[in-house]
Amino acid sequence: MVTAVTGGKWMERSAMETTKQGGTATLPPRLTTALIDRLTGMVVAGTAGQQRDPYEMIEVYTGNVVGELPQSSPEDVAAAAAKVRAAQREWASWPLRRRLAVFERAHELILSEHETIAELIQVGNGKTRRMAVEESCDVPMVISHYLKVARRVLRPVRRGGPMPFITTSTEQHRPKGVVAVISPWNFPFAISLSDSIPALIAGNGVVLKPDNKTALCVLYGVELLYRAGLPRGLLQVVCGGGPDVGPSIVDNADFVMFTGSTATGRIIGEMAGRNLIGCSLELGGKNPMIVLDDANLDEVIPSAVFAVFGNSGQACMHIERIYVHDRLHDEFVRRFVDAAADLGAKAGARYDYTPEFGSLASVDHMEKVAAHIEDARAKGATVHTGGVPMPDIGPAFYAPTVLTGVTPDMLHATQETFGPVATIYRFCDEQEVIRQANATTYGLNASVWSRSPAHANRIADRLEAGNININDGYVTTYSSKGTPSGGVKQSGVGARHGDAGLLKYTDTINVGVQKVQVMTARAKQPFDKQLRQTMLTLRWMRKLRIR
Ligand code: NAD
Repeated sequence: MVTAVTGGKWMERSAMETTKQGGTATLPPRLTTALIDRLTGMVVAGTAGQQRDPYEMIEVYTGNVVGELPQSSPEDVAAAAAKVRAAQREWASWPLRRRLAVFERAHELILSEHETIAELIQVGNGKTRRMAVEESCDVPMVISHYLKVARRVLRPVRRGGPMPFITTSTEQHRPKGVVAVISPWNFPFAISLSDSIPALIAGNGVVLKPDNKTALCVLYGVELLYRAGLPRGLLQVVCGGGPDVGPSIVDNADFVMFTGSTATGRIIGEMAGRNLIGCSLELGGKNPMIVLDDANLDEVIPSAVFAVFGNSGQACMHIERIYVHDRLHDEFVRRFVDAAADLGAKAGARYDYTPEFGSLASVDHMEKVAAHIEDARAKGATVHTGGVPMPDIGPAFYAPTVLTGVTPDMLHATQETFGPVATIYRFCDEQEVIRQANATTYGLNASVWSRSPAHANRIADRLEAGNININDGYVTTYSSKGTPSGGVKQSGVGARHGDAGLLKYTDTINVGVQKVQVMTARAKQPFDKQLRQTMLTLRWMRKLRIR
């Protein structure tokens, strides 16, 4: 095992903390076998006699098996979609206020059940209790936003027709029908539900496919929606390997909402394109942070620690590249490395609020993260802290890692590592740092730090990212539920949140009315006369600013 520059410090603390916080986790009392059986019983599987082997769900902290998750076949997916479609017709006919009442109740239920939700998130994902509770809060935040604005966004809007007074045109928003929501394991509860709920509010039914590893918390969230009054059948959960059930999910949907890697997003986009249905794709990132020469490091350091290591670096918007102005670079490296090492010492595998740093979601993923860091180390990068797994705490723990000296030939330079690691780069020239920040195929998130908002804004205007956070890592944009949030370049297509995050689940219908027949030629009217009248009308409407 190679020890990092400050690895000695981390090793000492980790040994101390392991006796205090680590060790073998046991499932908390709320997570009974009866609960797990009830939740796994909600998966649509085995309906068409096609049995798949169940998936063994693992408690990440220990590697212990916690239950078997039924796996759906493509036929099960079709059956689930048919059930959703039948329920959706009735649901779409409900007045919006009656649909919204379901989510008023769901908002309260989710808040009051946050401890159970957090535990179910932790079992499958391994994150800290603090982060799991934060994740659970995303769903009420999204519900609350759409409870406030859905009536305005979805109501029909009367637009002027081509001829004032005589014609009208009205924009209506009708539900698509069946929306497929495919979600990843990193924020499993938040993404699955916060993407399904606007679809449901808009009058759709949903076929939801969570990741196998983290399906339990999603199933519990669905159960809460049913307890809040969602009509039976309207939201069905299917589980399975993506390539196995994916084509059937897309073939049976009228719209696909996908969150995951850019590679899978491309496959989903191709399938949706073939079926000529819409899709919204929220994909990966390689997000830069720029610390300008006038930034206040007392504020930057704690925020950067969260932006890099929060959720153990498994957040799509988390920061993997930090560009620091020459004037602050050395101090930044010293303080950031110390803070990362301190955080590593607060790692723990516990279902309480003491640990501040959690596990990665699986041993497989931890090995992928470790491979990026080993590749960088082997090619000459400096590992200032971390760079080691933490098996004494849990099988998928990996220490917060800080690198410098990363060069373009290293995997971590350009690929999304999606773990608790960032590289610090020194810069002197602002034009050059903008070029470097944009030198990626991704465009999900970027962060700029300065004491001068005007200065930061000038840089931000030139960054190629769908989310830009000034004096923050990523929380401000992600938590602003009123503003659409999505990726540019290869980080996505479409957006969640804001009006766009609701309207994408609808078809816009244009209903035109002509009260008097003025748009077609009158009987026996010569065409040249009709043409002259048309030209005159168009000129006058422009002059009078009517159309
Ligand atoms: P992934 O693409 O491997 O899987 C995501 C989901 O798609 C899972 O449910 C998986 O089972 C399913 N899937 C896989 N192949 C499929 C196929 N052929 N057809 C249908 N479904 C398929 O991604 P992941 O590893 O679970 O998640 C991590 C990635 O997600 C990272 O790249 C991260 O940046 C990205 N992400 C993006 C956002 C965002 O909002 N932009 C949010 C969270 C995660």
